[in-house]
Amino acid sequence: MSSTNLINNCINCGRSEHQVPLVNITFAEQKTWICTQCLPTLVHEPQRLVNKFKNIDTSNPPEPQV
Ligand SMILES: [Zn+2]
Repeated sequence: MSSTNLINNCINCGRSEHQVPLVNITFAEQKTWICTQCLPTLVHEPQRLVNKFKNIDTSNPPEPQV
């Protein structure tokens, strides 16, 4: 019954869509969400989020990492 996959979380701060407005973004062919308060981080320091994208755990990763 409780599928957490239906609740989106900010990639940066981890807050859910119930707590903050989330914006859907795409980076490196991966779709994810970021909240409006973390958007400035993405704008000014995108390199800080790159590692977070690489660490995303998806149930269906596009490619296995070697
Ligand atoms: Zn955030």
